[in-house]
Amino acid sequence: MRKTGFKTFRRGGIHPLYNKELCSGKAIARAPIPSRLMVPLRQHIGAPNEPLVSPGDRVAVGQKIGDADAFVSAPVHSPVAGIVDAIEDIKSFNGETVTGVIIAADAEQPPFEARQGKPLDELTAEDIREIAGEAGLVGMGGAAFPTRVKLSPPEDKPIESVIINGCECEPFLTCDHRLMVERPDDLVQALELMIRAVGADRGIIGVEANKMDAVEKLRAAVSDRPNLDVEVLEVKYPEGAEKQLISAVTGREVPPGNLPSEVGCLVQNVGTAIALYEAASAGKPLYERVLTVTGPGVKEPGNLIVKVGTPISILIEACGGLTGDPAKVIIGGPMTGWAQEDLDAPVVKGTSGVVALTPELIDIREEHACVRCTKCVEACPMSVMPNFIVEAVQNGDWEKAELWGALDCFECGCCTFTCPAYIPHVEYVRKAKAEIATLKG
Ligand code: SF4
Ligand code: SF4
Repeated sequence: MRKTGFKTFRRGGIHPLYNKELCSGKAIARAPIPSRLMVPLRQHIGAPNEPLVSPGDRVAVGQKIGDADAFVSAPVHSPVAGIVDAIEDIKSFNGETVTGVIIAADAEQPPFEARQGKPLDELTAEDIREIAGEAGLVGMGGAAFPTRVKLSPPEDKPIESVIINGCECEPFLTCDHRLMVERPDDLVQALELMIRAVGADRGIIGVEANKMDAVEKLRAAVSDRPNLDVEVLEVKYPEGAEKQLISAVTGREVPPGNLPSEVGCLVQNVGTAIALYEAASAGKPLYERVLTVTGPGVKEPGNLIVKVGTPISILIEACGGLTGDPAKVIIGGPMTGWAQEDLDAPVVKGTSGVVALTPELIDIREEHACVRCTKCVEACPMSVMPNFIVEAVQNGDWEKAELWGALDCFECGCCTFTCPAYIPHVEYVRKAKAEIATLKG
């Protein structure tokens, strides 16, 4: 493994081509608002929401349109002013069918009216959790875990460090990078809020060394705050994965099957932090987000602020359209994102990007038998045995698949990236996880 002098996680990892230059210098611009938005009622891990509106209802920007009583859940808000057209099944980015609120947007959209609440420095820990819950905040790096729950760690697991994941280690994506460059002070204020919410001692923003302009801005923003630090990390995938980031920044290893609170840490994504700042300072719910539309298959890549519920076809159009017939359009990054059959899926809170790849960037060679080179084992940052999991799945031996670590795999794709036999390990792991879950009832 190459040495760079920057901190990084201990085990595994890869160095794919990052292709960030397509967008990293492009300022965030507002995307057009479509005439019809499809807002999924479930955009988070946890209990689904029930609709709070009916067809024919008028909705305002930021109005709550779906909610649930469960603690592990997050309400959904209208991204526009308009009329509810229907409540019906829609296809989500991952192929699942979900209930969505279809809204016909008014031709004229009023700006969101900021609401004045308590000054930020007077908010209590409970206030901050309540704000995160009411605003429907979720992890915006893709996991979509409700932020209120994350800001409520168990009492017997005190949090010492809140870590902002400013790595954005997925190739192509640059939306977090732009937020750090353009809104460093807001990010720092959000970090202070999260530290207060969990009673931590310090905050750290971990940034990969390919974003030194962001590092400079953030260092200036924390210069008079002794409890905050900016840590420059090696450019290595998956540096921004929760456990790997904790390892890189603190040297602590989260034991398999445990949460970051086990080692006194809490990790939050840049977009989530900015959303918390907006919710706390202006009462703004999470109904829009910054994402990247990029790849060689898009004519004018860019970083856009987008209303949740916007079909990705509108975003591609806003970026000049496709360069030709792309080999693959992915929602999310190319390592962990979801390939799309069409361009109809709507943006959700966890959508970090839309990447259009051209044929030369796609390896569609046929899967061969394992040659037992162990490259996948060396690349795996979780110390699981991807080669043996594949073998177990091929044999239908779910017990062995679990034994070799299928449940610890977070589907980063490092194994597949290195495999000379082009084995799609993640597909096997997903199958193993589903079978194990069924067997455990
Ligand atoms: S996808 Fe899973 S098995 Fe493969 S490298 Fe990542 S964590 Fe390891
Ligand atoms: S990298 Fe591929 S060929 Fe090599 S051991 Fe792993 S699964 Fe087998």
